[in-house]
Amino acid sequence: MKVALIGTGLMGRPMGERVLAAGYHLTVFNRSREKAEPLRSSGAEIAATAAEAIGSAECVLLMLADGVAIREVLFDENPKPDLGQRTVIQMGTISPTESIGFHKEVLERGGDYLEAPVLGSIPEASAGKLLIMVGASKPQFDKWSTLLECFGSEPLLIGEVGKAAAVKLALNQLIASLTVGFASSLGLVQSLGIEAGLFMKILRQSALYAPIFDKKLQLMLDRDYGIGNFPSKHLFKDVALFSAAAQTVNLETIGIEAIHRLLEITLEKGYADGDYSALFEAVSPAEG
Ligand code: NAP
Repeated sequence: MKVALIGTGLMGRPMGERVLAAGYHLTVFNRSREKAEPLRSSGAEIAATAAEAIGSAECVLLMLADGVAIREVLFDENPKPDLGQRTVIQMGTISPTESIGFHKEVLERGGDYLEAPVLGSIPEASAGKLLIMVGASKPQFDKWSTLLECFGSEPLLIGEVGKAAAVKLALNQLIASLTVGFASSLGLVQSLGIEAGLFMKILRQSALYAPIFDKKLQLMLDRDYGIGNFPSKHLFKDVALFSAAAQTVNLETIGIEAIHRLLEITLEKGYADGDYSALFEAVSPAEG
């Protein structure tokens, strides 16, 4: 089967490697062409435009930053992609409303659409260990599960389009909330001159512990967030999407809006591309 992958950024590139390793014929497109080039040596063809990549395949995987990028790629008029008889599988993190809208527009253009956002980052993408949430009909799920198994062994059907997008936002809200909670506690302990190791020893034995704390501890202690596997700018986007989705069902969003503001400060401090644990700089600034 011929597959196209559009978006070969941090996640798209290792996902492309997985598709090739499974034996599919793969054509890739990335707006910045140099990020697609490494996949050529693994056997991918590189398309000059998104429309060319879409036209080459029966199934089009999208691993793009956001809804704006998806709109540019799928519905650009110059050149206009032929979506007829093709299935689009949207795998980035977007809102349920955006995903439902794309579903409708792809159907209007004669194509098919399902969503399959993922939990996990670059190491999990490389190892085929992503957690895949699928928003689709049962026949769509049955048809495309084998392809999705390139990325994770057990894709889960959540419900119709929009439902998997909502679960993904619910999970990413937890990433942000847990990180802010941990950064606040670590910041207080450090500021009072209490050894972080002692604090962690108690935390690890308690019901409060989450593995993400140890994953982020050293980055926060070193105040060195590097080039993130999951950059702050994407978590900032996801928290805004969660907040908007939560408002549609009348949830109180005071807490998540405060976290959104902390992420905005993180970006203002220059950590847009750094690991999201740079939230520590907003919560407990070095200068403070
Ligand atoms: P990334 O490295 O920033 O890649 C984003 C991709 O979108 C790049 O291919 C980029 O092209 C493209 N893009 C952005 N704006 C565009 C536009 N206007 N037109 C065309 N292409 C555009 O992001 P990523 O980490 O791979 O994440 C991709 C998606 O998966 C995001 O929705 C993210 O939230 C989600 N996600 C990420 C992770 C993670 O750990 N990183 C985990 C799960 C889900 P250029 O290269 O030209 O900029």
